Amino acid sequence: MINQIYRKVALQVAGMPLVEQFISNQGKGLAARYIAGDDVQQAIVAIQKLQQRGIWHNLDLLGEFVDDAQSANQNAQSILDALDALHEAGIKPYNSVKMSALGQGQNAPDVEDLGYVNTRRIVERAKQYSGFVNLDMEDHTRVDSTLQIFRRLVEEFGNQHVGTVLQAYLHRTEADRASLDDLKPNIRIVKGAYLEPATVAMQDKAEIDAAYRRLVYAHLKAGNYTNVATHDHNIMYDVQQFVVSHGISRDAFEFQLLYGVRENLQDELVGDGYRVRSYIPFGTEWYGYYSRRIAEKPANALFVLRGMVGG
Ligand SMILES: Cc1cc2nc3c(=O)[nH]c(=O)nc-3n(C[C@H](O)[C@H](O)[C@H](O)COP(=O)(O)OP(=O)(O)OC[C@H]3O[C@@H](n4cnc5c(N)ncnc54)[C@H](O)[C@@H]3O)c2cc1C
Repeated sequence: MINQIYRKVALQVAGMPLVEQFISNQGKGLAARYIAGDDVQQAIVAIQKLQQRGIWHNLDLLGEFVDDAQSANQNAQSILDALDALHEAGIKPYNSVKMSALGQGQNAPDVEDLGYVNTRRIVERAKQYSGFVNLDMEDHTRVDSTLQIFRRLVEEFGNQHVGTVLQAYLHRTEADRASLDDLKPNIRIVKGAYLEPATVAMQDKAEIDAAYRRLVYAHLKAGNYTNVATHDHNIMYDVQQFVVSHGISRDAFEFQLLYGVRENLQDELVGDGYRVRSYIPFGTEWYGYYSRRIAEKPANALFVLRGMVGG
């Protein structure tokens, strides 16, 4: 309960323009532990270091919620450039995209959704490099559109090249998950990071944790590749027990954690023989991403405050 109240207040405070301006000016050095660098070459170095530890990558160019076509197209071009750079460095691309950064909800010249058009270009390029693109899930107003675009892209490019995310806190998600089963989809399951009203999302942590477990178990039982994206070691332990008791192979799922979070746990999981992937953001538009990380853990807010007062 306290955790949920903290999270809500932190997300509300982070949304205030003055706070954004202050942290944007002061906080870049503090955000660095979560971010692999300003450009793709720095991200490639981070990927190579993770590879040495046996950890796979999931690269994310920071940036979200643009409302003009020019910025959306520029973002798409930057992601295409990043895919090319990974390929040139001998790395198979595995990228995440936020469709709010790519024009989702805006019309392209041929009256298609611009987010779809840009995401399609990105998935097409990734497929050329035998890579993979994951459509991140953002606030609840975007879920219908994201799932529709996901379906279209899987039907065109196949489930080996595109996946998406489901958020356990939304009341609708169990039904959404089941509705995708015909695609045999590759899904990342998360608890959910946005400030959502009780009308659409559970507010109680125990309830969200229980929904999270149900989703992961249902997705695995349906025979779908499952990305267990959490830092919650209790859930990870339960998933490990679940797969053993249901005869599910370790190749049917992977653990995903955020870059810079619970690094020791990431190494332990690799040591225990599990697939582990790190979600690696890079770029200069770090504020939205960083504020959600602060909201996830009170100690992260203290870290920011200490850093700002020079402690
Ligand atoms: C790979 C990945 C991709 C994600 N993609 C999306 C997405 O597309 N859409 C979306 O809405 N959300 C996404 N999220 C965020 C997710 O919804 C949660 O907000 C976040 O993972 C925190 O929940 P938790 O599952 O780690 O559990 P919690 O119950 O919040 O935490 C479990 C434990 O991990 C620790 N912990 C959690 N977060 C942090 C942190 N930031 N720093 C240090 N310790 C921490 C906690 O202190 C606690 O001990 C993603 C998360 C991951 C790991």
